[in-house]
Amino acid sequence: MEGGFLKQLKKLWNNFLELIVPPACLVCGNRIEDRTQVICEFCEAKLSLIGEGTCPVCGSENKELPCEVCLEGQFEFDSARSIFRYIGPIRELIHILKYEGYTYPAGYFALPIAELIESEPSLKNHDYICAVPLHRVRKRERGYNQTDLIAYAVSKLICMPYLNPVTRRINTFSQTLLSKEHRIANLSGAFTVKHKDQVTGKKIILIDDVFTTGSTLNEIAKTLRAAGAKKISTITVARA
Ligand SMILES: [Zn+2]
Ligand SMILES: [Zn+2]
Repeated sequence: MEGGFLKQLKKLWNNFLELIVPPACLVCGNRIEDRTQVICEFCEAKLSLIGEGTCPVCGSENKELPCEVCLEGQFEFDSARSIFRYIGPIRELIHILKYEGYTYPAGYFALPIAELIESEPSLKNHDYICAVPLHRVRKRERGYNQTDLIAYAVSKLICMPYLNPVTRRINTFSQTLLSKEHRIANLSGAFTVKHKDQVTGKKIILIDDVFTTGSTLNEIAKTLRAAGAKKISTITVARA
């Protein structure tokens, strides 16, 4: 009965919102029926999910073992998983979330991440979820940290605590245009643990939007590891 009531309430709410502005796909602008969706069915059909069979450590789709990416990367985290390939509508949704001030994609991304954690015992048994921090100046400019929004929504969905024990003390240059070596140098010493007791002996899920070379996640994992973290599992919305 409750489900029916909620459905009815949702419909009423949708109708009400419809009066103000008809819902449109954030990516292509097509009209969408369900207000809880952020993209239309055509854009949804273009999403590219990363399936099973990825490298158990770095999450790359590289089938060769030992994994080349791992050999090069020397990752400090225990595992890296991503939901989507960083192509098509996902690229656009992440851009919209980061630079256009629409926060709706955060909730949309949180759902499959929550499902992934729920479906895997090795992810479910963590102490808390945290997000890759933004430097306070960058956060003030943007008004919010997009990965915070995703991580917080995930924590609410699966009732896992949410905590941010790491701060970004250096406002690093954007990583986008840097080579892999420069990315690592750019990040060196960029993060610090605020309260060591929140990290020592803990199993932590670290959330970010995009896994490119993994250098940001790796630097944070290094910082967490130095503070005594027991396990660090990273999950990103997309993988480049
Ligand atoms: Zn669309
Ligand atoms: Zn690997």
